[in-house]
Amino acid sequence: MSLIVQKFGGSSVGDAARIRAVAERIHDTQQAGHQVVVAVSAMKGVTDSLIELAKQLHPDPVEREMDVLLSTGEQTTIALLAMALHARGAQAISLTGPQAGIVTDGWHTKAKIANITPRRVHELLDEGNIVIVAGFQGMSPDGHITTLGRGGSDLTAIAIAAAIGADLCQIYTDVDGVYTSDPRLVPDARKLDEISYDEMLELAALGSKVMQARSVEFAKKFNVVFEVRSSFNTNPGTIVKEETSKMEDVVIRGVAVDRNQAKVTIAGVPDKPGIAAQVFQTVADASINIDVIVQNISEKGFTDISFTVAANEVGKATAAVEPLVPQIGAREVIANEDIAKLSIVGIGMRSHTGVAAKMFKTLADQKVNIEMISTSEIKVSVIIEQADAEKAARAIHNAFGLAEA
Ligand code: ADP
Ligand code: ASP
Ligand code: MG
Repeated sequence: MSLIVQKFGGSSVGDAARIRAVAERIHDTQQAGHQVVVAVSAMKGVTDSLIELAKQLHPDPVEREMDVLLSTGEQTTIALLAMALHARGAQAISLTGPQAGIVTDGWHTKAKIANITPRRVHELLDEGNIVIVAGFQGMSPDGHITTLGRGGSDLTAIAIAAAIGADLCQIYTDVDGVYTSDPRLVPDARKLDEISYDEMLELAALGSKVMQARSVEFAKKFNVVFEVRSSFNTNPGTIVKEETSKMEDVVIRGVAVDRNQAKVTIAGVPDKPGIAAQVFQTVADASINIDVIVQNISEKGFTDISFTVAANEVGKATAAVEPLVPQIGAREVIANEDIAKLSIVGIGMRSHTGVAAKMFKTLADQKVNIEMISTSEIKVSVIIEQADAEKAARAIHNAFGLAEA
């Protein structure tokens, strides 16, 4: 008998028929002689429509109340899934995140899991139940409902798998696994049999929404091996695990595209010491995360400083730096939301040369202009015009031979 955690994302529980199909799979797993803990997301589109509804009532809702609101999405699914299992004659019980013992810090809308006390989950399993836990939510030490950031049900599943010492953790979604690129964007993307934590983490952080980045970080930290697979068929998925020496033979594992970026440029900045420090301190004081930074060559004593932020923070970022313009003697602040970040990821980059050059040459052949570049040990990212993103992703996917196994 194994202890198995299965997570079902929003599209896997999108309507009653889907919930019934998921119930069948879970029940089959239990009947094969296993103990099953299930983590579920809100039904497809529910979280987005709750956010939309909130915005109709307040332009900038208090985050505590957003958490109370958004956690209802997952709470709906757990009850419905329990009912679907009961209808099959299965013994099942639903638990909210707090009832399952998930304690987080108090950072509303982006809470971190502090600890999990899975005593109740174990007791209910031992009584013969399928235990269904609401994804994406927990409770702060002082009793407030919190949520774990978008895509946070992945984190619930992985954290529970770690806490109960599960033998298997399966993330069920609407694609067959982790692909070399988003199959919706790059039609000849190929499913990977396995991928290292570090590569999965980079892909997730760089915009591949198949896994929440923080959940992969957690899996790496606690060495939770997990499988990403489809809830719509029984094909084997992608195993995410610690890297093996064989994995380094592949130069590029995948291509990621993130359209949720915006660029802020402070133009005509006097080129003298201390200015960049002042600009970025101002942005940091406004609690805005900066991603890529570029400072152009000085011309006649003036330069441009550009940086990228998440698209939903561009208003906040421009508002923060506008007051600096007269102070530092700059010309103006320009915001551009029509950009995308295109990245290639692979641990093989550590031992292969010419990877960035090949990427840039491919973009040049496609007449795609590179606005900014940033690299790390296992990734190269470029900021390009958003309209070029799809064509560029396909060309790069092709140039690195990712479609062929
Ligand atoms: P869920 O509702 O199950 O949490 P998500 O919508 O969060 O599912 O994630 C699945 C989606 O991620 C897929 O439908 C796919 O379009 C997208 N995706 C982006 N990059 C990749 C990738 N490299 N491999 C697989 N899917 C990807
Ligand atoms: N329902 C949440 C979201 O849409 C969490 C999740 O689906 O993982 O972000
Ligand atoms: Mg998801």
